[in-house]
Amino acid sequence: MFLEVLGRYFNEVHPEEEFVDQTYNALSELNFSAENTIACIGVCRDEISQPLVELINDRWGYAFNMSSLAGMFLAGLTGLKASMHHAPNMDGKERYIFYSFPHIAIDGSGKIGVCNRVGRESESSACGALGAIQKELTAGPLNTELDNDDIELSLMKSRLAREITDRDIPDLLELTKVVQKAIQDDLEAALSKVVDPGKCDYAVIAGIQIHGPDQNYISPVSMYAIVEGERQELEIAPAAKQA
Ligand SMILES: [Zn+2]
Repeated sequence: MFLEVLGRYFNEVHPEEEFVDQTYNALSELNFSAENTIACIGVCRDEISQPLVELINDRWGYAFNMSSLAGMFLAGLTGLKASMHHAPNMDGKERYIFYSFPHIAIDGSGKIGVCNRVGRESESSACGALGAIQKELTAGPLNTELDNDDIELSLMKSRLAREITDRDIPDLLELTKVVQKAIQDDLEAALSKVVDPGKCDYAVIAGIQIHGPDQNYISPVSMYAIVEGERQELEIAPAAKQA
């Protein structure tokens, strides 16, 4: 049932570990390596999102942390510039990779937003922050005032209010896709302000992290590298068929 739901809502899905290996290999062909590149990661704070961070750290070395609730890009220009200033530049070139993923759970029966967590009896949910926003949207317009007791969530709401009209309330899956696009738009807008393509090559690997009953998966939405100022789409092999 899980695989059926996965296939229904996502065009392309890869087991997480395979995905990190394949993106590493595709970028190796464009001269990105663990030695000459800094990886930056934006995922949710949720502990079930962290295996992806571990896999990226294993492949690329310790990555710069851009994470926040739901993986929103809240690090801003300051965070982005900091990560860029930390990149290796021994060969006269700086290289960055941005892995950017909000997340959603799908349980064994295909229920969207639902997962089981080790050591907890009842079922749990992911992404919790997006679930809270989806509930608030269903009840009425989002409160977009800055809440000092809940800074990140209130920043998320004010950002997402720009994407969602009151008449068109997304379900959790649709909201996750809206968020994915907003995160990528914000990252790319920030990159366009600070990257000097004359001295930097970089890659954006963006999509949705999916927590299945057996393992985590990645559904890529956009994967490209800018090398010598030229955009190149990254191709990776389709996942082996699931049993
Ligand atoms: Zn989350």
